[in-house]
Amino acid sequence: MTIIPKNSHGVDAALRRVGLRLTGPRRAVLEIVQGTESHPTAEAVHRMVRRRLPRVSLGTVYRNLRLLVTEGLVKELPGPHARFDGNASEHHHFTCLGCGRMVDVAAPLTEPHSRALCRRVGAHAGWSVAYHRIEFYGRCAACRMKSKRPARRRRPPS
Ligand SMILES: [Zn+2]
Ligand SMILES: [Zn+2]
Repeated sequence: MTIIPKNSHGVDAALRRVGLRLTGPRRAVLEIVQGTESHPTAEAVHRMVRRRLPRVSLGTVYRNLRLLVTEGLVKELPGPHARFDGNASEHHHFTCLGCGRMVDVAAPLTEPHSRALCRRVGAHAGWSVAYHRIEFYGRCAACRMKSKRPARRRRPPS
C-alpha cells in the first residue's frame, strides 16, 4: 500500500498515477481530505475548498469526491450522511455520540483480536475477507468532561 505524502506534490503525483487531470478543484479536494483527520462530509469539504477557490460549487466537489473514491485515493464512509477519509491505511473509527466527532483508531490497537475475528468470520462461510473495519461508538474525553462538570459552583465562605 502506498502512503501518499500530505503535500501538493504528492497530490499531483497521486492524481497522475491514476490518470486523472490535475484541475484546481480536484487538487484542492484531495489535498483537503488528505490533510484533515475530521472525516468531513461533502458539505464540509466544499466549505474548505471555497476558502481557496470561492466559485467552486458543491456539485463539483461532490463529483470530484466520487471520482477520487472510485480511483481509491479517498475512502467513503457510509452512513446517513456520507463522510470522506483521506487516510488510506487500514484503520478503524471511534464516533462520539455527544459531539459527532469521528476519529481514527489505528489498526494495531485492535490486534490481535480483529485479525482473529476476521479469520473466524471468513472461515464461517468460506469467505475471503479482503479488509474489515470496526466502528466504536461512545463519548470522547471532552464530552465526558463536560457531563462530569458539576451544575452548581461551590462558593468559598465570605
Ligand atoms: Zn465528543
Ligand atoms: Zn479514518
